[in-house]
Formats: sequence, C-alpha cells, structure tokens
Amino acid sequence: MSALAEPTSQSILELRDVDAGYGPFRALFGVSFNVAEGEVVALLGANGSGKTTVARVCSGLLHPTAGTVTVGGIDVSRAKTYEIARQGVTHAPEGRSVFASLTVEENLTLSFRAELGKRGVPDALAKAFELFPRLGERRGQLAGTLSGGEQRMLSLARVLVTPPRLLIADELSLGLAPIVVDEVYRTLADVRAAGASVLLIEQYVHRALGLSDRAVLLDKGQVAFDGPSDQLGDLAEQVIAGPGAD
Ligand code: ATP
Repeated sequence: MSALAEPTSQSILELRDVDAGYGPFRALFGVSFNVAEGEVVALLGANGSGKTTVARVCSGLLHPTAGTVTVGGIDVSRAKTYEIARQGVTHAPEGRSVFASLTVEENLTLSFRAELGKRGVPDALAKAFELFPRLGERRGQLAGTLSGGEQRMLSLARVLVTPPRLLIADELSLGLAPIVVDEVYRTLADVRAAGASVLLIEQYVHRALGLSDRAVLLDKGQVAFDGPSDQLGDLAEQVIAGPGAD
C-alpha cells in the first residue's frame, strides 16, 4: 500500500486538469472542479460525455493520465480504491454489489455491523426497511434471487442508512420505479442534512438540479459549466432536451 500525503486543502473532492481514458481513447480533457464539505454537486452531460469516467477517477477505479485528484486535501491520483474508501468515499452502486448467497437481512447486517458495530444494527435495519418496505417483505430471501430493482434497493440501503463522507452517486435511480426514486431523493436530502457531500450523476436532470447546490456540465470530456444549479440556464435546456430528459 502506498502512503498517502498529508492534507493540503479543505474541499472534500478536487480535480485539477484531469485527463483520463481507456487505452488509446481519451475520455476526459483537463477536467477541473471541486466539491466542498457538505455540498451536493450535480454532474451532468449527454450520454458518453464522461460522467462515469469522472466517477471512476474519483474512486480510484481508473487513474488519471494527467492532473490530480485530491480527497480531503490528500492526493489520491495514484491511490487504490480501498485507500480512497478509507478516506470516507463511497462510489454507489459500483463497489457495493450484494452477496448473492446471503439473505437480504444478512447482507444488511454484515454491512451495518462493520459500519456501526453490533448494537447499531437493529436501528439501521429498521431504517432500511422503512426506506425500502419491499426489502422488509423480502428480508429472508437470498439476495441473488431478488429482481434487478430490488438488488439496487439493497445496495442503496447500505449506503443511504450509513452515509459516507462523500457519496459518489452514479445513476442511483436507474431501474427503479418513480415512486421509489422519490423516496431515494428524500433520503438523499437527509444524507445532505446530516453533513455528507454528494457528487450526483443522474439522468433525470430536473431531479438532480432540484437537490444540488452546484452543477458541473460535461461536454465531450470537458467542463462546459461550473456554477450554481439555478444559473445553468440555456445550457440546462440543451442537456434536458437530450435522451436523458426527465
Ligand atoms: P452515459 O450517460 O451514457 O452513462 P457518461 O457520460 O457516463 O455516459 P462515460 O461512461 O464516462 O460517459 O464514457 C465516456 C466515453 O468513454 C464514451 O465515449 C465511452 O464510449 C468511453 N468509454 C467508457 N468506458 C470505456 C471502456 N471501458 N473502454 C473504452 N471506452 C470507454
């Protein structure tokens, strides 16, 4: 394991001039933005503009070919995913997949016990089943036999009930019924109220802008806008008019 340097700034997340890609293909070109402590930043852009690539770079799944990524002021540009996770960063839903051969309740218990200790488990379970009643109905079912949407609820329950310092939320609502998405967004508001920071990647642009303090718009791997969500103006129209419109 590489030793991480001492913190140098107050932003929870900061990207400076980040280039990244896949083999010869370059997906990000000099991307710079930051997420302050307690802030919700919506990362928007058309399909293929580089949003998931940014999320991967921030969680160590992909290393930048140039530029720096810092978490809590610590340079994590070359860090492993588990080292970044230790700084309090969770990339959901990637890296939070369910254990197929364990029941719903066993999956949740394992996760909550690790985060909160044994005594915290009953309250956390109650909160998870309140958030997703469907999981309560299926608490004894093997996670591998849940539907796709139910598995997503299970991985989300683990993240939303015990929120990290920075949640990188990549398409949280994908595959969920609108009524469930409403509940997920109400919980995200609670997560923010509890002081967590969120980088929110969402195809439902209106929902993302409704919750976020700031928006960063990507266009072909470059930052085209970075500012207060309510000042996105006409650029928002272009994004919203795209295939991911609400
Ligand atoms: P979407 O909204 O459709 O999910 P996105 O904004 O998240 O898109 P990315 O997934 O970051 O976009 O992809 C950015 C570019 O990188 C795209 O052109 C994509 O085809 C390319 N890309 C992504 N993953 C890979 C990969 N593993 N190998 C090669 N190219 C990739």
